[in-house]
Amino acid sequence: MLSSSICRASSVSTATLTHSRLSTSRFLGHAKRISTGPKSSRAARRWSSRSADSHSGMSSGGRGGGVRAAAQPLQNADELIDSVETFIFDCDGVIWKGDKLIDGVPETLDMLRSKGKRLVFVTNNSTKSRKQYGKKFETLGLNVGEEEIFASSFAAAAYLQSIEFPKEKKLEIFMDINIASSVNPEGLICLVYVIGEDGILKELELAGFQYLGGPEDGGKKIELKPGFLMEHDESVGAVVVGFDRYFNYYKVQYGTLCIRENPGCLFIATNRDAVTHLTDAQEWAGGGSMVGALIGSTQREPHVVGKPSTFMMDYLAKKFNILKSQICMVGDRLDTDILFGQNGGCKTLLVLSGVTTISMLQNPNNAIQPDFYTNKISDFLSLKAATV
Ligand SMILES: [Mg+2]
Repeated sequence: MLSSSICRASSVSTATLTHSRLSTSRFLGHAKRISTGPKSSRAARRWSSRSADSHSGMSSGGRGGGVRAAAQPLQNADELIDSVETFIFDCDGVIWKGDKLIDGVPETLDMLRSKGKRLVFVTNNSTKSRKQYGKKFETLGLNVGEEEIFASSFAAAAYLQSIEFPKEKKLEIFMDINIASSVNPEGLICLVYVIGEDGILKELELAGFQYLGGPEDGGKKIELKPGFLMEHDESVGAVVVGFDRYFNYYKVQYGTLCIRENPGCLFIATNRDAVTHLTDAQEWAGGGSMVGALIGSTQREPHVVGKPSTFMMDYLAKKFNILKSQICMVGDRLDTDILFGQNGGCKTLLVLSGVTTISMLQNPNNAIQPDFYTNKISDFLSLKAATV
């Protein structure tokens, strides 16, 4: 695991002493003890401005929109299939339940592929990386490539990349412009503090970011002796919070110190799901419970990168060069999957094979109405046959 000490070491390596001025200027706007005045570049301003967005009300997604017509039962699958070129599937409750594949999924995916449809799998679960999810698909006998999987763990790393979050300290620049002696390199950010599990760490590592926390802090305890003060790394410029079975007070306090005391420190949530399904016996407190603790202690709203925020939808549309109107989002949750599709301007299909029942969908208090609903995705096959 990478650590702040590694970060510090890398910042003073000989190899880094010949770097360009441009790359350093990206994080001048974020450095704690450095003026951004005349030395800040367009890149720095761009990064700052994007970072500022993350603290605004627009960050958490879920705008919902106006009143929609009541969802219609899916009757003509061919019509829906022919009207889009990409299907985005949520995983749990759509493809599998826990570790059990839902009936008819392999045949349905095969049929869609045979019709030339692009298939993408998006999950808010951040405990696994794309590679780890790839293994789960393989174990279940599904032929799905890593490049087709987008977990919120990946979204966190992709978001940091999109704002050009620094990957290392650039002390060399200050050497270059002869101000090294006046700069404390501790003020330069390059670290992400993680409250979450292995999937986030794996994706950050793959993207080249340096991090602290994660499972390593799971066993840490705080002894509140008189005068005790917790130190925190001033190089942390982003705190990423995801579902964490080893959540504890140490992590809350560490993340809180970073967000409250490191100027400009980002607060990023993989998702705000209220509950999740760790066992089939009951609902369990979801990632939103961990995020909520940090909202409470920092009085800040996070930037959400998972569903229903549009970040992943925008990312996918750009990556595959597809129109959002040519996408159908298929999911089992109204407040994440369906809202994600609607926020992105996509067609939406609710399946009743997961957490949402027909009575929940049709409850007068429910304002989130998908375009269509059906029992499970393999209805694509039977409804298709029925319409032939
Ligand atoms: Mg689901």
